[in-house]
Amino acid sequence: MINVILLGPPGAGKGTQAKLLEEKLGLKQLSSGDMLRAARDRGTVVGQKAKSYMDNGGLVPDDVVVEVVFEYLDEQKSGRGNIFDGFPRTVEQAAALDRKLAEKGQRIDSVIVIKVRDDRLVERIAGRFTCAKCGEGYHDKFKHPAVDGTCDKCGSSEFKRRPDDDPETVKKRLKVYHEVTVPLIDYYQKRGKVAAIDGELSIEDVSREMDDVLVSLEGVETSVSGG
Ligand code: AMP
Repeated sequence: MINVILLGPPGAGKGTQAKLLEEKLGLKQLSSGDMLRAARDRGTVVGQKAKSYMDNGGLVPDDVVVEVVFEYLDEQKSGRGNIFDGFPRTVEQAAALDRKLAEKGQRIDSVIVIKVRDDRLVERIAGRFTCAKCGEGYHDKFKHPAVDGTCDKCGSSEFKRRPDDDPETVKKRLKVYHEVTVPLIDYYQKRGKVAAIDGELSIEDVSREMDDVLVSLEGVETSVSGG
C-alpha cells in the first residue's frame, strides 16, 4: 500500500488533487474534514464533540480526529493505498499515524506540500462550492459546471457552500495552519519525504507536478505513465 500525505493550507487544492489522484491511480482519498463533517451532520457522539471547533475554524482535538481516521483505516480492506487530505494536521497526529502504519507494516511514502500565498487563499475559498449530492467541487471564478446550475458529474442541481468558508473563519483557519500544521513540514523533512509544489498553477499543472513526484514511488509508475 502506498501512503501519500497532501499538506497545505485550507483552499490550496488538496481535495481537488486528491480526487484526481483517486481517478488516476486508484488510491483512496482519506479526508478527515469530510469524515468529521459527516459525523457532525449525522449528530454522532464524535460529531457533537467536533462541531464547535469546526464551526469556529479551530482544530478538533487530536484524540477525536485520530479515533475517526483510525477507525476508517482499521475497516479498510486491501487497496492500492491512501491519499491523506487534511490529516495529519499536528505533530502529535503525525506521530500517531506513523505508529499506526508501522503496526500494519506500512509507512508514509511521500508528503506533498502544496504552497499557495495567504492572500490568494482567501479569494479561492470565498468562491468555492460543491455539489450537494456527489461532492464534486466548483468555483465561482475558476471552475464552473459546464452547464450552469447542473453538476457535471451527477447532474444534480443542488449545490452547497461550507459555513466555515466565511472570511473571518478562514483567517482563523489560516492562523492555525501556520502555527500548528506548518511545523509538520519539518517533521517530515527530517524523514526525507517532502516534495513542494507550486499550488498557484492551474489545476492541470499542479496535477502534472504531482505525477512527477509520485512516479518515483515504487508501485505508482505504470499507473501514472499509463493514465
Ligand atoms: P478541512 O475540510 O480539512 O478544511 O477540515 C474542516 C475542519 O475540520 C477544520 O477546520 C477542523 O476544524 C476540522 N479538522 C479536519 N481535519 C482535522 C485534523 N486532522 N485535525 C483537527 N481538526 C481537523
